[in-house]
Amino acid sequence: MSFSIQGVGMTSQRTRDRLIHILKEQNIYNEDVLNTIASVPRHLFVDEALSSRAYENISLPIGHGQTISQPYMVARMTELLLEGDSVKRVLEVGTGSGYQTAILSKLVFSVFSVERIKPLLDNAKEKFRQLRLNNVLTQYSDGGWGWPQKAPFDAIIVTAAPEILPMSLLEQLVDGGKLIIPMGRKGEQELLVFHRVGDKFHKKTLEKVSFVPLLKGKVP
Ligand code: SAH
Repeated sequence: MSFSIQGVGMTSQRTRDRLIHILKEQNIYNEDVLNTIASVPRHLFVDEALSSRAYENISLPIGHGQTISQPYMVARMTELLLEGDSVKRVLEVGTGSGYQTAILSKLVFSVFSVERIKPLLDNAKEKFRQLRLNNVLTQYSDGGWGWPQKAPFDAIIVTAAPEILPMSLLEQLVDGGKLIIPMGRKGEQELLVFHRVGDKFHKKTLEKVSFVPLLKGKVP
């Protein structure tokens, strides 16, 4: 098993270092984020047939019409999440492959991650076991409702785009917490950050992005 985790050829350390170089060129500065991306084996989170492309700066299909996020996007959102006050408890909506979850698990105290497609979640959980990511807790549910039993969170990161802001997510932030969320219809999405100050929310609009849609309900 250590063989597949270390990786060879296209999944080698040199291939990963090339990705880090590209992320730096795209203005990712946070050293903790860069080091974590360099150390987490992204090829384990995609189908073996795609593992030779795992360290390219692209999103890749993971089945069920979903994708593993582009490394740049994972880096950017993680960097935003770590900005400012110390972040301990994080909710992620959209576990998908589990790659973003794994990155977060190395950088914060605990990660709560929810996914609406059961086979994707089961697959991701298996990776967390293999990599011994013991600070990740998952739930099979519609994450538009957040995870009220585990709230409040210091930060919430949403990896699929709704057209309308899910208000329950804002309610599950601590005072001073932030929600990082892509929003809008296909082709016109933007990355937004909402900062909670008391019962007020300050909205910041960042770059244009492209995510799969946040959908309702659970898929067995
Ligand atoms: N962070 C993941 C991104 C996967 S794509 C990765 O890098 O692999 C977004 C994921 O959000 C998909 O797996 C999709 O099934 C999930 N998703 C969409 N709507 C959801 C919802 N309402 N609740 C939970 N997960 C949702």
